[in-house]
Amino acid sequence: MNAIERLQQDSSTAAPQVTRKTFDEVMVPTYAPSEMVPVRASGLDLWDQQGKQYLDLTGGIAVTGLGHCSPIVLEALQKQAATLWHVGNTYTNEPVLKLALALTGATFADRAFFCNSGAEANEAAFKLARKHAHGKHGPHKSRIVSCFNSFHGRTLFTVSVGGQSKYTEGFEPLPPEIDHIAFNDIAAARAAITDDVCAVVVEPVQGEGGVMPATPEYLQALRELCDQTGALLIFDEVQCGMGRTGKLFAYMGYGVTPDILTVAKALGNGYPIGAMLTTDEIAKAFSVGAHGTTYGGNPLACAVALSVVQTINTPAFLARVSAAAARLVAGLNAVVADYPAIFSHVRGSGLMLGIVLTDAFKGKAKDITKHAEALGLMLLIAGPDVIRLLPALVISDEQIDEGVRRLRLAVDAFQAAR
Ligand SMILES: *Cc1c(COP(=O)(O)O)cnc(C)c1O
Repeated sequence: MNAIERLQQDSSTAAPQVTRKTFDEVMVPTYAPSEMVPVRASGLDLWDQQGKQYLDLTGGIAVTGLGHCSPIVLEALQKQAATLWHVGNTYTNEPVLKLALALTGATFADRAFFCNSGAEANEAAFKLARKHAHGKHGPHKSRIVSCFNSFHGRTLFTVSVGGQSKYTEGFEPLPPEIDHIAFNDIAAARAAITDDVCAVVVEPVQGEGGVMPATPEYLQALRELCDQTGALLIFDEVQCGMGRTGKLFAYMGYGVTPDILTVAKALGNGYPIGAMLTTDEIAKAFSVGAHGTTYGGNPLACAVALSVVQTINTPAFLARVSAAAARLVAGLNAVVADYPAIFSHVRGSGLMLGIVLTDAFKGKAKDITKHAEALGLMLLIAGPDVIRLLPALVISDEQIDEGVRRLRLAVDAFQAAR
């Protein structure tokens, strides 16, 4: 019996029974998910089909900043769900305008464009940068400069701008006029950012590429080079934005202001929404009809995101993120000190942290996270050599200590299994 037959039989008798095995039968195999299937969650606690509890330090990959099923977000969602879901962009709506006011009021930006994901926010940013440059300087100003190891999404344009060739292999021909330079290398930036560049895009803290913060000097140099050449500086804060670093956006901690900022992941706490923020002058290049999306800026997503922005963007909330980050870093540093053969150091910013493995244990990050999962601790990796932590920003001191305790048990189990 195949999966569909089984589902049909199940639905004719009892509730449908699906397991991890079903994934291999009916899903396009773009992912290799864990054997554990989550069924419900609250805050940082999550339970699988067997009722086993896990402490989730992944935050759904930097998405559930306020925790799973946050009561604040749930209330906003339920209220808006009973009011107005969607009208399409032939009409505007109150939640989208309130969200745009909140985001522009809190940032350098004057204008917002809403979409449904990080890739779409970056797609909008890259298209806007091209259109802005072509209108102002002519079609020769088309080149986009990005960093190796960067990640900007999976549409053909964004994956081409991303700096990891494993993600573009087989998808050629790729969009032209995109160059990659070494991250944090000012000399390379100086050589690459010439008058034909329309945009320079960078993650202030690289996420997928290994949890690597930019140096302040690097971002400052990019700002100056963009000003000299008339290129737009785009900060991709899809992962590091929305309070993750202890600032509402990471750029605020650096004191370097971009021309375009992209946001997604934690903006909707799990409800899909992305945003591109920019200035009045640059936004003009997107005239009526130049860009758009059906769902983007719909009332339901925007009401949810507004509740998230209002909750995160308070001094007390952001100060707590920094305090929690300091406690977690101290705990992780102690683990690194106790297992010097396995771990090299901890790096990152705020509650976006990576534990870097030593050369002797290169490639073993996934093995350790598997042991952690067996012991009730959910962790991520960022490449084969870095364990990545992106817990909900509402993590308590007790949860931090419990996470570090379970991590130690996982490392012990990993060692014992070797
Ligand atoms: C996740 C991510 C994206 C892509 O976002 P999607 O919502 O998956 O399209 C883009 N940039 C960065 C920095 C990310 O971490």
